Amino acid sequence: MLSVEEALAGILARAKRLPTEFVPLMEARGRVLAEEITAECDLPPFDNSAVDGYAVLSADTDSATLDSPVRLRVIGEVVAGELSEQPLLPKTAIRVMTGAPMPEGADAMVMVEDTRLEGGATVLILSPARRHDHIRFRGEEIRGGDTVLTAGTAIRSTQIGLLARAGCGRVPVYRRPRVAVISTGDELVGAEEPTPPLGKIRDSNRYALGGMVQEAGAILHALIHIPDDLEATEEAFRQCAEGGADVIVTAGGVSVGDRDFVKPVLEKLGRLEFWRIAMKPGKPLAFGQIGETLFFGLPGNPVSAMVTFELFARPALRKMMGYPATALTRPATTVTLAESIPHTPPRREYARAIATLEAGGFVATTTGHQGSNRLSSMAEANALIVISENCEGLEAGEQAQALLLNLQE
Ligand code: AMP
Ligand code: MG
Repeated sequence: MLSVEEALAGILARAKRLPTEFVPLMEARGRVLAEEITAECDLPPFDNSAVDGYAVLSADTDSATLDSPVRLRVIGEVVAGELSEQPLLPKTAIRVMTGAPMPEGADAMVMVEDTRLEGGATVLILSPARRHDHIRFRGEEIRGGDTVLTAGTAIRSTQIGLLARAGCGRVPVYRRPRVAVISTGDELVGAEEPTPPLGKIRDSNRYALGGMVQEAGAILHALIHIPDDLEATEEAFRQCAEGGADVIVTAGGVSVGDRDFVKPVLEKLGRLEFWRIAMKPGKPLAFGQIGETLFFGLPGNPVSAMVTFELFARPALRKMMGYPATALTRPATTVTLAESIPHTPPRREYARAIATLEAGGFVATTTGHQGSNRLSSMAEANALIVISENCEGLEAGEQAQALLLNLQE
């Protein structure tokens, strides 16, 4: 059996970054930038006022005090988006709004709060301005041609703002993987179908995994169910691979049951790289390839399916989407256990847990019974406590490593 790290390394070695495409700016959120973006011009593009007030020559205001203000003639006004019609002359002031270009000749702004208007055309300056007061200078944030965003940057709302400012209406990003999700099992009844008769159960994996594909930012290419039947399995895998799926994710039928057809069909149509990992939940996990399509045969138990997707399929999808190596798996942190957790070697275990941030750091408690069929144990979980292979059980108050599931978009 492979360790979790060996399996993940093998998977990531085969998951290749997808080609680049251009998308409209408002479709770029959640994608990864494929090219460096440079500034279109200096930013700010011109010297401008940081306040509503009066542009002045600072030397003219040196003697200003509340009791003995300096009087300046107001010779004009500049609003945002316009240029001043005349330069500033000594002993005059020009009214300037926030963001409006500085008039030529002025070297400082006086905030309107530090002035008083006298009549229509004279302003009283109540305190001295220093040179460069309240001016935002051209290029002080970024120089034209300088790098704004590097290739490999994940695009969130701030990056959308930066792209907009760089005049980037169409954004070069890595393509999103198309993922086919296939549930297997004669016992399964879809969510849209009537109440199952005794002996059958509702199919939950198909939908939960479909949701995980969407949450990972990939495209749900197909969402289907197949019976435990050799021909049906082969037909479905072939269709998905030939129909353009970059990844196939199946659930169930991957163990050693008489009617588990996932592995034999994968071996017939493509290649099985490995199929067992020393972990709990989720030992039977078949990974391979059909042509260029990556194949994840996840276990059927709902918790095992979701945890193995989380640990193996999601990082692969993120790599294909262009995320850098440091942003493929969830962030790990140290947690203090609020309860003891039993464990028997030799498989590594991932316990579903609720981690809360308290004064001394994260405290974690499990979500209760950890049976891999109990989907409800995943519902509240925001963390997976990692219990190492040879651990004989963890005590309350002990520290452990946990993966935080909600900290990475
Ligand atoms: P299998 O690996 O196919 O033997 O499935 C293991 C267990 O998971 C069995 O109890 C199945 O009934 C259950 N199971 C398999 N697939 C699903 C599914 N899509 N939804 C809910 N339970 C499933
Ligand atoms: Mg089955």
